[in-house]
Amino acid sequence: MTADITVLGAGVAGLAAALALRDRGVSVEIIEQAPALTEVGAGLQIAPNGARVLRALGVQPPGPESAAVHLIDGPTGRSLIRMPLGPGFHLVHRADLIDALAARLGAIPSHLGRQVSGIEAEGKRLRFADGSAREVRRLIGADGVRGAARGFVAPGHAPKWTGQVAWRATVPVTGWPMEAQVHVGPGRHLVLYPLRDGALLNIVAVEERSDWVAEGWSQPDDPAALRTAFAGYAAPVRDVLERVEQVNLWGLMDHGATPAWRRGACTLIGDAAHPTLPFLAQGANLALEDAWTLAAAPDPAAWEAARRPRVTRALAAAKGNARNYHLTGARRRLGHLALRAIGSVAPGAMLSRFDWLYGADVTEGAGARG
Ligand SMILES: Cc1cc2nc3c(=O)[nH]c(=O)nc-3n(C[C@H](O)[C@H](O)[C@H](O)COP(=O)(O)OP(=O)(O)OC[C@H]3O[C@@H](n4cnc5c(N)ncnc54)[C@H](O)[C@@H]3O)c2cc1C
Repeated sequence: MTADITVLGAGVAGLAAALALRDRGVSVEIIEQAPALTEVGAGLQIAPNGARVLRALGVQPPGPESAAVHLIDGPTGRSLIRMPLGPGFHLVHRADLIDALAARLGAIPSHLGRQVSGIEAEGKRLRFADGSAREVRRLIGADGVRGAARGFVAPGHAPKWTGQVAWRATVPVTGWPMEAQVHVGPGRHLVLYPLRDGALLNIVAVEERSDWVAEGWSQPDDPAALRTAFAGYAAPVRDVLERVEQVNLWGLMDHGATPAWRRGACTLIGDAAHPTLPFLAQGANLALEDAWTLAAAPDPAAWEAARRPRVTRALAAAKGNARNYHLTGARRRLGHLALRAIGSVAPGAMLSRFDWLYGADVTEGAGARG
């Protein structure tokens, strides 16, 4: 046992927490099950609230700025509203964000290829899959939705099936606008945005379903199933989906915020504390905020009390978005009329509903690098 704080999980939350702590002079180590921090995942949207944390950590968001969020009626292809974005909204490949955080972190004690199978002694002992154990002083559980820390802090906290599945894929493109497009329709929607220099298009497609599909980032599906689900959509979407060669499918579970974020020496952050439905693209942003605020907090109990209301509000807002994207019948017609009307006079008004989210600066007055 050497480090003051052990961070379990080298995803966005864990790397950012290790960096924020290290910069405050705390001795920190990382434990991660993957043998290397390799390319996993695809697109993430970094909003200004997350970008502020990255800059405070000395990391530039590693992706271009997004010019707008463009809502389009999927079946007709008709534009509903194009909401211009201010600065600070970035379209980022998850692998590039992990690389940027890891590069800034440099050499710190890291134990890769070490899967934690259990947490014991009130969070002070990690049991590994190979049977060995390691004593720790304080533990940050940043090991995601299906990690060991969440089960230790909140055993038996069961998620609810949302009745929705999501496909994820990327395809090569040229000349795609630097904006996030949300193609909405009855019972399904699809989000498209370019990554890196615009040569790759990130696709997230959500469909309501009665049958249950397992949760996880890497279960393959047949691209034909994705094409069939969106066969009633207009040509630009169908053309993009024609080019999909590999796709992952996962079931969207509503975990809600974990009822407790602390037990003994262990404190949860990121997806381990509050797995977020993807309809507001806040998972990585909330994880960055958690990392910064916990590192700056005098004690984890005060941190949890201060942090919960904001996270709970963000989780509820994400759920609300899904309902609005999938409207049917008269509500859909009325909703779309209203969107077009707002779009013609004040296209920014829709996004100002989220000023409390995007406008917050959790680094303010807490030792940010400026
Ligand atoms: C492989 C993968 C791909 C993803 N792809 C996308 C994507 O394309 N778009 C998107 O919006 N979001 C994606 N996400 C989720 C997104 O990264 C998170 O919602 C958000 O960034 C919060 O991250 P986190 O660090 O809290 O959790 P995570 O990103 O889930 O990171 C958790 C880390 O803990 C490690 N870990 C888990 N269990 C153990 C264990 N028992 N022992 C040791 N280490 C463990 C994992 O390997 C991982 O590195 C992905 C997550 C993962 C794990």
